[in-house]
Amino acid sequence: MSLPQEIAKRRTFAIISHPDAGKTTITEKVLLFGRALQTAGTVKGKKSGQHAKSDWMEMEKERGISVTTSVMQFPYQEHLVNLLDTPGHEDFSEDTYRTLTAVDSCVMVIDAAKGVEARTRKLMDVTRLRDTPILTFMNKLDRDIRDPMELLDEVETELDILCAPVTWPIGSGKNFKGVYHIHRDETILYQSGQGHTIQDVRIVKGLDNPELDKAVGEAYASELRDELELVMGASNEFDKELFLTGQLTPVFFGTALGNFGVDHMLDGLVDWAPQPQGRETEDGRIEADNDGFSGFVFKIQANMDPRHRDRIAFCRIVSGKYEKGMKMHHARIGKDIRISDALTFLAGDRELLEEAYAGDIIGLHNHGTIRIGDTFTSGQGSRFTGIPNFAPELFKRIRLRDPLKQKQLLKGLIQLSEEGAVQVFRPLANNDLIVGAVGVLQFDVVVARLKAEYNVDALYEHINVNTARWVYSDDERKLDEFRRKAEVNLALDGGDNLTYIAPTAVNLQLAQERYPDIQFTHTREH
Ligand code: GDP
Repeated sequence: MSLPQEIAKRRTFAIISHPDAGKTTITEKVLLFGRALQTAGTVKGKKSGQHAKSDWMEMEKERGISVTTSVMQFPYQEHLVNLLDTPGHEDFSEDTYRTLTAVDSCVMVIDAAKGVEARTRKLMDVTRLRDTPILTFMNKLDRDIRDPMELLDEVETELDILCAPVTWPIGSGKNFKGVYHIHRDETILYQSGQGHTIQDVRIVKGLDNPELDKAVGEAYASELRDELELVMGASNEFDKELFLTGQLTPVFFGTALGNFGVDHMLDGLVDWAPQPQGRETEDGRIEADNDGFSGFVFKIQANMDPRHRDRIAFCRIVSGKYEKGMKMHHARIGKDIRISDALTFLAGDRELLEEAYAGDIIGLHNHGTIRIGDTFTSGQGSRFTGIPNFAPELFKRIRLRDPLKQKQLLKGLIQLSEEGAVQVFRPLANNDLIVGAVGVLQFDVVVARLKAEYNVDALYEHINVNTARWVYSDDERKLDEFRRKAEVNLALDGGDNLTYIAPTAVNLQLAQERYPDIQFTHTREH
């Protein structure tokens, strides 16, 4: 297959949602489809029988913890899909944000009993930075949900994106009958208790088909017809242009637990979501079908596999092709390295990789030379931009139990900050070390890793910090003056960037008013 064909085949996406909306469950079902299709020979013709089921259990066993691993690649229809996991629960961190720079589209999962929740809002803000196309899955239709019309309305007003329903639910909870697929003009009937298999679906063609009345009951059928009339009038039709620019989201209804509707969403993903896209560098854009290899590191993960005590750098290939043994240029340190042992993540397993293409994620063994945001190319190439650090929201002072190990502590913290595990700030005016995080779990992880990997015993103390901002100015003189006058609030981060540490929100606001020539930014690009 040619490079453009390989690229056209691929879709790279992530699932965004509020905790408990069903991301993990959907990931499992998506893999069920992926794996099942991969072994289509055994599944075909016996869809609802033992085979599908044992495939599933086999997969569970084989997969082990792999549903929680970071990258999963699987075939779907004629396509190859890369699903990047975003940490969901307490371990929510900047990784989540940066992972979103490595995808070309997202699926937003909403608990249809609850509607738009806080984390969803936050993640949507991030996808908006790059106008990432969003598909929406309204989940948990097997429970009593809120009025679907109201849900769409809430998404439109709260998330500022137009909704185009692709499927429409018939009932919910105990009375969930299925969905009508607006584009295919057919009703797909739901059967409960088939969550672990690919459902052997029953389909009723056409909206006015009397079979529909028989299948779901007259009352539900006529309610569906009435509702659809209303929906068609009040909501938007799917528009690919608007979808691709992040202004409109196709909406699907279903239940991940019941494995119903997930395939409709996947069909939408492979049909409409963009193939791997290029990315911006310091010297302009590199397109995916550029012959030369290029990629950037968006995540570093330690101890992925207890048998390999290593760190893996996750590199999104932006253009060209990776081949085993190829030479890559490490742009930041200006050196060539030969990579013969990159990893791929086919359906969650780590495998040595022969080749990979734009849109794929490869895992590079990191022996301390790779940082978040690093660029690799096959030529000289320039560095990718847009891999952000976010101002942390939680702060603690970190202190040693054994004061003699100050140097190791600092080294550990700086390395962990290069990995993106945490952020570290060194005030200009004193010898404190401040650790900043986006998620609370990061603090515990850092202390555990400092002990295990750097042999330092550290503990936290409360510190009165509310927020931090990176500060810049085009005017060197003004910046110097600011540095002098505001010294008590200034610090250097792990990469020696000047940062304003604000004890209160009001303090930050006053500083911004007082120093209008200084830019205070919430994100910093690597
Ligand atoms: P995550 O936190 O977004 O990854 O959510 P999970 O996939 O772990 O799901 C959270 C809870 O909701 C679990 O108990 C799931 O079994 C449940 N759940 C997920 N999808 C559905 C669904 O479609 N219907 C129902 N009733 N429960 C669901």
